[in-house]
Amino acid sequence: MTATISSPYAEVIGDPIAQSKSPLIHGFWLEKLGIEARYLAHHVLAEELGDYFDLRRGDANWRGCNITIPHKIAALEYVTDPGDIRSSIGAINTVFRGENGALIGTNTDAGGFFLPLAEMDWTGQSAIVLGAGGAARAVLFALARAGIGDVTLLARSGLKAAGLLAHFGLKGKVLPFDGKLPPASLLVNASPLGMKGKEALDIDLSPLPQGALVYDLVYVPLETPLLASAKAYGLEAVDGLDMLIGQAALAFELFFGAKPPEGHDDELRDMLLR
Ligand code: NAP
Repeated sequence: MTATISSPYAEVIGDPIAQSKSPLIHGFWLEKLGIEARYLAHHVLAEELGDYFDLRRGDANWRGCNITIPHKIAALEYVTDPGDIRSSIGAINTVFRGENGALIGTNTDAGGFFLPLAEMDWTGQSAIVLGAGGAARAVLFALARAGIGDVTLLARSGLKAAGLLAHFGLKGKVLPFDGKLPPASLLVNASPLGMKGKEALDIDLSPLPQGALVYDLVYVPLETPLLASAKAYGLEAVDGLDMLIGQAALAFELFFGAKPPEGHDDELRDMLLR
């Protein structure tokens, strides 16, 4: 399953993997910076995960990998976890080489999610989060660290959602998806609703005050009906490409020791949308 590669490289692993935009993003930055390395996509089945890490551990050219569905939790078994991601976010999306070649697991989804919000002070502000899966965990982790106030979590399973609020030490309440929204400064869709091929997201944004920010992690389509509705209400809208590029930027530095080049974000977004 794993061919030897004779130059420095990183890669994204998952099952399926063809949909991943990570090779386009990292390849774009490598080319702009003139770094002689590659970023590949590698199809790894769940039962191959242990063999995958065993092989890569001994491959000096391998700088690390990003991890996508369905391996984000299982991969924790094969790496060291100095940041104790297991008991905080509970899932990793990046593995890189530490000192002595150790494979270190980390999660750049939370940091990537927060990048477009970082200029604002969220201390004590209220937020609404939709979904209770892996992305929601990264979102809640980031918001808790930013000192967010009340959080309303919309989820199919009230028990699971209440458990998440408690896990991240957040106060707030749980609502079903058809519940009436409270006013809040931030609404984040961390569910797949509104994604191409999935059910539409049907919520009434009218309770949100002017100045509220609506952030959709879904990026196919880029302008989801949720973001179109937010704009129609005159609210701020942030799309899922910001997080996608943000989490990749943090991983890129861990793999290749350089920050992504500045001043090319519009060109990168155009390329990803083509
Ligand atoms: P996940 O782990 O499968 O979690 C999905 C969550 O949404 C679960 O809580 C699930 O409910 C809920 N859900 C699914 N279908 C639903 C429905 N029909 N009605 C109500 N709730 C539903 O997926 P994920 O990794 O968190 O990803 C969620 C979305 O975020 C995806 O669209 C993904 O593409 C996007 N995402 C974007 C980025 C980015 O960089 N922009 C990064 C990560 C994820 P249950 O808990 O009841 O199963």
